Amino acid sequence: MKLLDELRVRPGDAPHLARRDAGARPGAESKAEGLERLEKLVARLGVLHGRLYAESQRAVLLVLQGMDASGKDGVIRTVLTGVNPQGCRIEAFKAPTPEELAHDFLWRVHARVPARGEIGIFNRSHYEDVVAVRVRKLAAQSVWSRRHEHIAAFERLLTDEGTAVVKVFLHESKDAQRKRLQDRVDDPEKRWKFRLGDLDDRAKWDEFQTAYEDVIRETSTEHAPWYVVPADHNWSRNLCVAEILVAALERLDPQIPPAEPGVDGLVID
Ligand code: AMP
Ligand code: MG
Repeated sequence: MKLLDELRVRPGDAPHLARRDAGARPGAESKAEGLERLEKLVARLGVLHGRLYAESQRAVLLVLQGMDASGKDGVIRTVLTGVNPQGCRIEAFKAPTPEELAHDFLWRVHARVPARGEIGIFNRSHYEDVVAVRVRKLAAQSVWSRRHEHIAAFERLLTDEGTAVVKVFLHESKDAQRKRLQDRVDDPEKRWKFRLGDLDDRAKWDEFQTAYEDVIRETSTEHAPWYVVPADHNWSRNLCVAEILVAALERLDPQIPPAEPGVDGLVID
């Protein structure tokens, strides 16, 4: 699909974040058309997920990364509305606890991957262990840089064992973030989401962009590709992620298991 080719970062390629327009609205000519298409994708996702769950052989993992207010929560809320919560595993990764820090960085991550039959969504992920750790200087370069290889091997393992991995970077502009953070401060219903620490990350905007640029280049593989989704417009962002997720499931083509012998044509009295 042309849209997915546009968003996907091919193995070895740089994502060229600075050259990509975070305000682009790919996937539809207009918002009305985009919302209509999204509705169809949400319905299709429900059907495909039903089959995945019935089949119970494979899983899909969608990794969501992005700066604060890039729309990770919004994507989960909107794109997954048609998916049966039974068979869906949403995992948010916060700063590691002392117990988590006492283990290797993938310990807590592996424990939260989707089981066969499930769609798993990571709201942040093991990529924080490269990006946030690098920018906030929580570990030496020698530590975070060797994680690229471990991540590639880990994602290879998941794929080999039947979990399709797709990774999405929600590409937001600094100005869109300013507006959204301001909105969080101003709106009493949203204020709980805002932490003063968000401003420290915002002040390191360029360093985060560089860190994302590098990690996406290093870890976009054939088996676990990165997609860079323009995230300034909510509807287009949601639409793109829905397209990516539906395509991942269509590729798996999950099958309803055959009925037990004797069930076909059975009349219940
Ligand atoms: P939020 O997703 O906005 O609720 O914030 C979660 C915070 O946890 C973000 O600031 C992340 O950077 C941080 N975080 C998540 N995982 C890690 C990690 N492995 N190392 C350091 N910080 C992390
Ligand atoms: Mg936050």
